[in-house]
Amino acid sequence: MKKLIISLVLLVPLLLMSCGDSAVSMMDPEHGSTFSAGHDNPKDAAQCHDNMELLSTGISMFYGMNGWFPDDLSELVIVDPKLCNLICPSCKLPYLYDLSSSGDVYTITCPIPVEPNHGYIENGHRSWPPDPQEWPEICHSNMTSLASACAMFYGTYNRYPEELSELGTSGIYDNWDEPCPACGELYHYSSDYSNTYSIHCPMPTDPTHGYVIDGVCYWPPDTSGSQEACRSNMRSLGSGMAMFYGAYNRYPAELSELGTSGVMGNWDVPCPACGEIYHYSTDSIGSTYVVECPLPWDPNHGSIEDGIISWE
Ligand SMILES: [Zn+2]
Ligand SMILES: [Zn+2]
Ligand SMILES: [Zn+2]
Repeated sequence: MKKLIISLVLLVPLLLMSCGDSAVSMMDPEHGSTFSAGHDNPKDAAQCHDNMELLSTGISMFYGMNGWFPDDLSELVIVDPKLCNLICPSCKLPYLYDLSSSGDVYTITCPIPVEPNHGYIENGHRSWPPDPQEWPEICHSNMTSLASACAMFYGTYNRYPEELSELGTSGIYDNWDEPCPACGELYHYSSDYSNTYSIHCPMPTDPTHGYVIDGVCYWPPDTSGSQEACRSNMRSLGSGMAMFYGAYNRYPAELSELGTSGVMGNWDVPCPACGEIYHYSTDSIGSTYVVECPLPWDPNHGSIEDGIISWE
């Protein structure tokens, strides 16, 4: 496999001639062969990973059209000619492609001729760990998954788990031990075992990726995933509204009434993008309500009107 890849370094530029521009760009003196192990630049790595993902998607589309994998990346011209011009931003070389002799396993490899390069994709499975700019989003999605698992656990046992591992042993959520991608540690969890729980990103630095308390997400501002977190907050407020209505047969006059009535302690959770409390309105008899993301631009993260979610 290694041998084959190395020999392909020489072949691929020739094969790509039909694709035009990539061969030309290789001649460009600016992109000359003075490749200087520049792959320690994380931006390059991320761009290279994106390129390989694009190629992998292109290959899936090619497969969908033809029922087989291409013999050569230049055949992706029928999917999108741009795919033929992708080069690794560090070494400026086109990607290496290998198809097994059985024709059912393909590999796309970063062309940097020394180790470590940016990795490879085999049949859609990437070999590299997530890039740093993906970490907050992955961490947030891990925490929201844990929070929904805790809610399911509550639904079954009428209490929150004592430890996250109980999500696994109960069979509710097998991936309870998925770590934060930045530090590799398991999430910090605490609970009074009955009514309340919290999940914290375990990063030892401040700010971490945030935390979840009783299903409400607190992500630090300016990290990705604020839309998802904001919507999760609005869903929680929507449940608070339903509970309030159940108890008083009307909706609260002000959002803060969720708090003063004891229905929902964290009624003043902010939108994680702007830090503002949610906009709330109701009519004079409390028969209807709107909770809206306070972001001043259009579209904001959405709204919930009488339990109806605007983004679904
Ligand atoms: Zn690369
Ligand atoms: Zn984290
Ligand atoms: Zn928002």
